[in-house]
Amino acid sequence: MKKKVLILYTGGTIGMTRTENGYAPQSGRFRAALDEISDLRASELPVWELTELEPLLDSSNMTVHEWNKIARAVAEQYDRYDGFVILHGTDTMAYTASALSFMLGNLGKPVVLTGSQIPLCEVRSDGRDNIITSLLIAGAGRVNEVCLYFGGKLLRGNRATKYSADGLIAFISPNYPSLAEAGITIRYNESALLPKPKGALQLQLLENVPIGVLKVFPGIQFSLFEQIMTEKLRGIVIETFGAGNIPGDGGALLPIIEKAFCNGTVLTVCSQCPQGAVALGTYETSNALKRAGAVSGLDMTTEAAVAKLYYLFSCGYDKETVKRKMEEDLCGEMTAP
Ligand code: ASP
Repeated sequence: MKKKVLILYTGGTIGMTRTENGYAPQSGRFRAALDEISDLRASELPVWELTELEPLLDSSNMTVHEWNKIARAVAEQYDRYDGFVILHGTDTMAYTASALSFMLGNLGKPVVLTGSQIPLCEVRSDGRDNIITSLLIAGAGRVNEVCLYFGGKLLRGNRATKYSADGLIAFISPNYPSLAEAGITIRYNESALLPKPKGALQLQLLENVPIGVLKVFPGIQFSLFEQIMTEKLRGIVIETFGAGNIPGDGGALLPIIEKAFCNGTVLTVCSQCPQGAVALGTYETSNALKRAGAVSGLDMTTEAAVAKLYYLFSCGYDKETVKRKMEEDLCGEMTAP
């Protein structure tokens, strides 16, 4: 029996057309664009069906609301298909992939996000290969996780980050090996794949929890951020230098962090370096963060840390549990010690 894959088109460059105001997605046009690619009917490919999300979005406009729509669509159709391909804009694809990896618990089928840097309507579009190879991966059923295929590589979704604004290899996974490489054949890296889970799929929808991201830089005036570090802020990802270091600045940040911590905000420390891990306490400049109650994001991407905060708070956990779980590996998003 031929495998069946559901393609979910959410918007993004891949299906955009030229308008007076620049590229934009146009509802109802995408099916015709796919119909023009005769290879999509090749016998080697799984049978596929297409669903379009309404409204189609440039992925810069994605919110928790759209993540819920996508996750719900997968969960509702889960038993009818062998795999899923989610066509998505590249700008926030790594955030959506991270969020879905937490939301779709016990996932036992491939969910492959892909898109393109050049629209399908252009001759040099990279979208054609990205869709065809993603369909093959989704139909093959070798991976049981949310992943991202782009430019010849299959990456774990919650390890991926957009690295190029205009290159055709737009994503990297700096702290985890590729799940597969598409050369003449698609070679899976078996030892990097998550095992097939036991138990039924578990969908966790997300709430629009107030969280933030703060990137430190030389000369940062921490006092300006005091206003946002109130009890309303449930969680914050602090993007630090190197292995978790912040400017001393006469200790200006620490009282603010301590106050935020006492207010109930969960502070997670990630690194501005794409590769390597946070090690709080290695330097004096990071030890203070640890003493102030921050937790280590280890080698998580900022995208994964943001999605994980949304997820853990949406599960209804108390602050202490969220703190503990931020340092635990839930679905391959971090290398726990
Ligand atoms: N702005 C587009 C988007 O993220 C970029 C792309 O798809 O490559 O939707």
